[in-house]
Amino acid sequence: MTAEQIRRLLLFYQDLGFTELFRRDPPAGQRESPPQKAAAREASEGPPPGMPASLLDHIAAGEPREPLAQIEAELAGCTRCRLHKGRTNLVFGVGNPQAQLVFVGEGPGAEEDAQGIPFVGRAGQLLTQMIENTAAREGLPLKRGDVYICNVVKCRPPENRTPEKDEMDTCSPFLFRQLESIRPKAICVLGGTAARALLNTSTGITQLRGKWQNWRGIPVMPTYHPSFLLRGYNAAYKREAWDDLKKLLHYVYG
Ligand code: SF4
Repeated sequence: MTAEQIRRLLLFYQDLGFTELFRRDPPAGQRESPPQKAAAREASEGPPPGMPASLLDHIAAGEPREPLAQIEAELAGCTRCRLHKGRTNLVFGVGNPQAQLVFVGEGPGAEEDAQGIPFVGRAGQLLTQMIENTAAREGLPLKRGDVYICNVVKCRPPENRTPEKDEMDTCSPFLFRQLESIRPKAICVLGGTAARALLNTSTGITQLRGKWQNWRGIPVMPTYHPSFLLRGYNAAYKREAWDDLKKLLHYVYG
């Protein structure tokens, strides 16, 4: 790891609220404390036994994937819901079309609307940092371009308001088709809106986060939306999000 990578990593942990760092491998003779052992076990925990590993388990052998480009083409010029009125660009998704891991957010913000790419504003930069720095910390050579990132609704809600139920109901079938095309090993839902769209639950994200859920046979890890983590300085929430991501990365790539 280069000095610049170490500097960025330390800044990232500072942003998460860490004030102390410890060696990963204790000197000979020193044993991990019970909390450290518990943390390591928690980080490597996968979905509960009995949960199907992947949508692939449910797909008949040889069933072709619907190309993402085909789904995107169907959305070109979409006016199916009122959100089309305020958009500059429709924001379909970005990343590896056969990613092992997909992140699903709520909807595009101003920067995303301007560029037509999801998660490119401040929250997007934090998400990229979280993915790449956590992966680096865990010894995984994972970059943002290796995963796939998209939102429940593809057009920016006015004033960044939460998408309404009818808007989500209209747009989410396209998200579902994206996910069925990609067939990831796991999905990370970012925030309560994405959790509601995929998990059909009214349980809040603070209750859901960190616990494996399931969407059509694909394990789902709910965690906080990066824009929530950017609001004020709340180390506890950032630390929880970091734990969730660590658990997810270990399951998918470990
Ligand atoms: Fe169409 Fe989705 Fe945009 Fe609504 S949010 S106009 S359904 S692409």
